[in-house]
Amino acid sequence: MARKFFVGGNWKCNGTQEEVKKIVSTLNAGEVPSEDVVEVVVSPPFVFLPLVKTSLRPDFHVAAQNCWVKKGGAFTGEVSAEMLVNLGIPWVIIGHSERRLILKESNEFVGDKVAYALTQGLKVIACIGETLEQREAGSTMEVVAEQTKAIAAKISNWTDVVLAYEPVWAIGTGKVATPAQAQEVHFELRKWLQANVSPEVAASTRIIYGGSVTAANCKELAAQPDVDGFLVGGASLKPEFIDIIKSAE
Ligand code: PGA
Repeated sequence: MARKFFVGGNWKCNGTQEEVKKIVSTLNAGEVPSEDVVEVVVSPPFVFLPLVKTSLRPDFHVAAQNCWVKKGGAFTGEVSAEMLVNLGIPWVIIGHSERRLILKESNEFVGDKVAYALTQGLKVIACIGETLEQREAGSTMEVVAEQTKAIAAKISNWTDVVLAYEPVWAIGTGKVATPAQAQEVHFELRKWLQANVSPEVAASTRIIYGGSVTAANCKELAAQPDVDGFLVGGASLKPEFIDIIKSAE
């Protein structure tokens, strides 16, 4: 099954209203391949979601960067999946390494979040990835398989899931994975899905790469057979995000 190229922009905890408006107008003016070729999703901080949703071109979509693990209620500081649905936000990023490592979100918690968001009708960009220490110890596949397993254990339908492989050592460091390194892990992840979920899910699920993706390195990465797109941090705040979207072609 053909997998449509996917490019996500993770703005993280950045931006003022003025800066957000500027990024949106740059995106709106960008010439990019059609929606048949590439799916583009940008993820502003929660407070800017309504502004971005109403001002962004209709062929680009929005994602929240997180949501609560179950139905909303007495959970101070959290934002529920129901609220995102109510605002018409179609996507959510779950399990980003910054949340796993800084906020101590466990594999199980991330799996529960993915499952709950899907039951509410959200589409999920689920992030996984090893630290430098884990890579150097030779446990990359073990780590990403465990992270994926915790998600697979809680869901039965992968249609609305994009899996983002983001090696922690490559995030925000300027130290991008080589195309061969990315391809190796994506290939193994697809094999894992084939053996542990189903051949159909393995063939149809988009596995995207994240970690220091730029306009300069995206083409070579995009050419890898199991790299189905990107989750872009720093470069998604800059005009070069348009060039990264173009690597879909
Ligand atoms: P980066 O971030 O592109 O700035 O490395 C990627 C991410 O954290 O999603």
